[in-house]
Amino acid sequence: MTQDLTPATAQPTTSASHLIRRPSRKIWVGNVPVGGDAPISVQSMLTNDTRDIEESVNQIHRLADAGCEIIRLAVPDKEAAEALGAIVKRSPIPVVADIHFDYRLALQAADNGVHCIRVNPGNQPRKEFIRAIVTKCKEREIPIRIGVNSGSVEKPIKDQYPDDLVTQLVESALLNARILEEEDFFNFKISVKASDPLKMVDAYRRLARLVDYPLHLGVTEAGTLKRGLIKTSMAFGMLLSEGIGDTIRVSLTADSIEEVFAGHEILRNMGLRQSGSNLISCPSCGRCEVDLHGLANQVETLMAEMDRANPGKPLDVAVMGCFVNGPGEAGHADIGIAGGIGQYYIFKGEEKVMRVPENEALEKFKAELQRTYAEYDPEAKQHQPQTAANWQTANKDAETLAIEAHLTELESTSQP
Ligand code: SF4
Repeated sequence: MTQDLTPATAQPTTSASHLIRRPSRKIWVGNVPVGGDAPISVQSMLTNDTRDIEESVNQIHRLADAGCEIIRLAVPDKEAAEALGAIVKRSPIPVVADIHFDYRLALQAADNGVHCIRVNPGNQPRKEFIRAIVTKCKEREIPIRIGVNSGSVEKPIKDQYPDDLVTQLVESALLNARILEEEDFFNFKISVKASDPLKMVDAYRRLARLVDYPLHLGVTEAGTLKRGLIKTSMAFGMLLSEGIGDTIRVSLTADSIEEVFAGHEILRNMGLRQSGSNLISCPSCGRCEVDLHGLANQVETLMAEMDRANPGKPLDVAVMGCFVNGPGEAGHADIGIAGGIGQYYIFKGEEKVMRVPENEALEKFKAELQRTYAEYDPEAKQHQPQTAANWQTANKDAETLAIEAHLTELESTSQP
C-alpha cells in the first residue's frame, strides 16, 4: 500500500488560488466528479427519518438550493433502504446511502439507485460483507466511501495501536482499501474522521502520502454552530492549504443549511471555489450610530438569494458602521453601505450613490445591489482599491467640513 499508486495521468491540480492540489484519482458520485481536477464539492447529510419520503425530498431540495452538491442519508433499516428508490428519483443531486452494520441494506440501497455507498468498516463485523458490497457496487457502477470514524475503528487495529488514534484511523483505511483493491475495485474515496481536529489533520496528512484515492474531509462530532465552525475551519484550512481534500462536509449540531453555507465559505475564502458573493462587514465600534448587526444579517440573507439568481457574479459587498472610515476601509467592494447619524450612505467604489434614512436602507440597497449584479463586468471588477483618505476627501459632508475648519482655526490660533 505504500507504493506509489499515482496514475501516470494524475498531475498536481492548480486551483483558482495559488494552492496546488494533491494528485488524486477522479471518481463520479452520480454526475458530480470527486478528485482529480474536479472542483472540491460540498456535501451534507439529512437529519430527518429517511422513511419519510416527502420530508426527505423537501430537505434535499432546500439543501440543493443552498448549494449542497451531494447528499447523504442514513439507512437504518429495510424500510429506509426501500424509501431510497422514490427519494433518488426526485432528488436533484446525487444521493449517498450511509450504511452501518447490516451490509444487506447496502445491497438494497444500491438496487434502489443510490449514487454512492458509504460503509463504516469498523461497523462491518466480517470483511466478506464488505466484499459483497463491492460486488454489488461493481455491478451497479457506483463508488464506495470508506468512512473510517474515530469512534468505531475495528477492534484488532485498536488493540494493535492503543493510544494512537491517528495510526488506528490510517491503518483501518489502508486495510479496507486493500480489500477493495483485491477485488479489483478502485472506484472509491476515503474519509478518516476524528472529533479532535489536530488528530484528524494528522490522519489525513499521513493517508494523503500513501494513497491517491480522493479524500472526503470531515471533523466528526464537531459540535454546535460556533464551536463546530471554528474546529472545522481550522482543520480544513490546514489540509486544504496543503492541497489535501477533494470533497468536504462540515458536520454541525445545527441546521444542515449552515453546513452547506460553511462549506462554500471555507472553499471561497481559500480561493478554491468561486461560489457566491463575499460579505465584508466591520465589527462596529463607538462610532457606529445605526443598527449595523441587524442590517448586516439582512444583507447576508439578501446576498444568498441574489447569488442564486446571479450565478458566476461574485461581488464584494460591504456593510460598514460609519461613514467616516467605512467606505475607505471597504474601498475594494463593488458596492457598500455605511452608517451615518440615523441614516446610511450607499457607495460604489469612490462614488457616493445616495443617502437613505435607516428605515429605507435595506430596500434601497437591494435595488442598488440588483443593479450591480446586472451590470457585473469581470474585467472592470479589477478596479483600483481606494484609500480611506481619498474617500474621506471626496465625500465629506458639510458638517464634517465645518468641524475640520473649526479645528484648523483653533490650531492656528494656539500657535505661539
Ligand atoms: S467602519 Fe466605522 S464603525 Fe465600523 S469599526 Fe471602523 S470605525 Fe468603527
